[in-house]
Amino acid sequence: MKILVLGGGGREHALVWKLKQSPCVEKIWCAPGNGGIAADAECVAIDAGDVSAIVALAEKIQPDLTVVGPELPLVNGLTDAFRQRKWSVVGPSQQAAQLEGSKVFSKRFLERHRIPTAKMYGAFDSPQEMYKVLSSLTFPVVIKADGLCAGKGVFLAPDFVAAKDFVERVMEKNELGPGGKRILLEETLEGEELSFIILTDGKRYAPLVPTRDHKRVFDGNQGPNTGGMGAYSTDELLPDKLRETIRSTVVEPTLQGLAADDIPYQGFLYIGLMLTKSGPRVLEFNCRLGDPEAQAILARTDFDLAEILSDVAADRLDPSKLHWRRGAAACVVLTSGGYPGKFESGKKINGLTSAEQITGVKVLHAGTKLAAGALLTNGGRVLGVTAAATSLQAALVSAYEAASKIQFAGMHYRKDIGAHATELRASGD
Ligand code: AMP
Repeated sequence: MKILVLGGGGREHALVWKLKQSPCVEKIWCAPGNGGIAADAECVAIDAGDVSAIVALAEKIQPDLTVVGPELPLVNGLTDAFRQRKWSVVGPSQQAAQLEGSKVFSKRFLERHRIPTAKMYGAFDSPQEMYKVLSSLTFPVVIKADGLCAGKGVFLAPDFVAAKDFVERVMEKNELGPGGKRILLEETLEGEELSFIILTDGKRYAPLVPTRDHKRVFDGNQGPNTGGMGAYSTDELLPDKLRETIRSTVVEPTLQGLAADDIPYQGFLYIGLMLTKSGPRVLEFNCRLGDPEAQAILARTDFDLAEILSDVAADRLDPSKLHWRRGAAACVVLTSGGYPGKFESGKKINGLTSAEQITGVKVLHAGTKLAAGALLTNGGRVLGVTAAATSLQAALVSAYEAASKIQFAGMHYRKDIGAHATELRASGD
């Protein structure tokens, strides 16, 4: 089988890494890929969001299967273009990707199908209308830009002044671009967050192993939000009873809702949940695997990923084929100094060989590039040091030992990935 993977971050490196382990895979291309993916696949310098360029590439290389990593190609209609040509592809349609591409679309979908979520106070196209409603609400409230805003479109507003400032920046000064033209206002939920990710062919689905990510840049959840500073996966994150509640109150109504609305969905569906006192509530949908959750999840696969993804594309997913390694996995993200603010790229990366000699460790590349044989940093999130082991504690020890072998100027990483889970266990909670 020849496979094309779209995207160029840590998630796509994890996909390429696992696809390559399949005995039926003969060749992998990745567009655009990165400095680490280049060791496992042929990288093609094309933007994954450029639908016509990707179609032209696929016409030339004729992959047997295409796997879409990030949201942009999905929201831009890439899978529709492929399916019209009867090409095998994993990823939801442009219409289905609106679950992620438009918060208003997704909220209306949730409400229509009575799937538990935060109450919506309204959706607004005009800032003046919004200020009027804001002045009548009790704070805190959550303000969400409708469209894709690279993770910057959600604001938990503590009071009117802060809320007005955010709306001004997003709607009047267009600081987040076209994604901020329309804004949604909703109630604030309290609880622990959990990501629940499924793989579906539209009819059957398989839940992936549970994960939790760490979004803030500094230890103890301090500092600004990032694309993700690390993640871990352990079955203990999701007791059986909670899994059943999520399946029956969220996952199944969602798949039935999509079918009722005549929106076929094939691929990964990421459901961001808040576990409130009155049960799980949907915070958001993503129409793809999370990053860095994918790195921790895929490190635990004990099945042929290429075979399973071909089954999804051919409408014949057999959920019983998804076997997982017992134990746990952890991914520690190494970033450029200053990220998520201003940072410098082009720093030489050392120590990867000794990091990868540690049992169970795989260093997945996100922002790296090769230049004259040297590996250089090329982005905010640079590497995802990923380890699988028989317990979370052991996975964390391996990942941190590997991280300590790697150096580049300005390197930063959190020292407390997964710490909350291990503390809970130590206290018998
Ligand atoms: P979203 O992109 O909608 O998941 O929002 C990003 C983050 O904002 C979530 O992971 C939560 O931490 C937070 N968030 C979103 N909606 C709410 C809500 N209604 N109540 C509390 N926190 C929220």
